[in-house]
Amino acid sequence: MTEISINLNEVTQQIRAHESKYNRPQNSVTLLAVSKSQPLEKIQQAITAGQKSFGENYLQEALEKITQLNNPQLEWHFIGPIQSNKTKKIAEHFQWVHSIENFNTAKRLNDQRPSHLPPLNICIQVNISEEITKSGVQPDDVIKLAIACLEFPRLTLRGLMTLPAATDNFQQQRTAFQKVRLLQENLRKKGFTLDTLSMGMSHDMEASTAEGATMVRIGTKIFGKRQKI
Ligand SMILES: *Cc1c(COP(=O)(O)O)cnc(C)c1O
Repeated sequence: MTEISINLNEVTQQIRAHESKYNRPQNSVTLLAVSKSQPLEKIQQAITAGQKSFGENYLQEALEKITQLNNPQLEWHFIGPIQSNKTKKIAEHFQWVHSIENFNTAKRLNDQRPSHLPPLNICIQVNISEEITKSGVQPDDVIKLAIACLEFPRLTLRGLMTLPAATDNFQQQRTAFQKVRLLQENLRKKGFTLDTLSMGMSHDMEASTAEGATMVRIGTKIFGKRQKI
């Protein structure tokens, strides 16, 4: 057993326990291992332990890892801010993008998604922190962007993502995640078929599961503190 496989087991058991505690179906929450700023060796240990989905924030670093690992069974998720000059490589090398914040990024990813690949899975990132500086779409603007995304044949809108202001207060965490769950429910009522709520990190994964997360993005709890690599 490597340290990484022990951590992965522990996180997985915590997720299963939270599912039970909050009356969520077993296995309704999947684990995205956030490997940004982590060395290849640790990712390889996670792969050996059976982990297949990885989240990355920095394009250059991610491309190097994707190339070096060269494993078609892996699923790569882009979860960081996207500058428009980065969309082509993202469209070519990732299966998911969680951080869609505007129409132009969505359009570029659609236009640049290679035709031999299936449509790119996307989530709209919602800003629920009421801080202008935070990334994401304002809640009132989500519906407009979601409607626009329906027009893109090379993208599949899977749901919403959020990265709330950090707090250790469980109730505050839940309140933030609840806003995103309600937004998602509202979109569903309007006819969108969405199956993904990407929310919850190492410090707030219990609260996110309580509020309906289907994918938690966990870095530190699996890989330890991030390093400069
Ligand atoms: C870094 C990061 C994570 C993982 O955070 P941890 O606290 O290490 O679990 C999750 N989501 C996003 C968008 C991130 O940038």
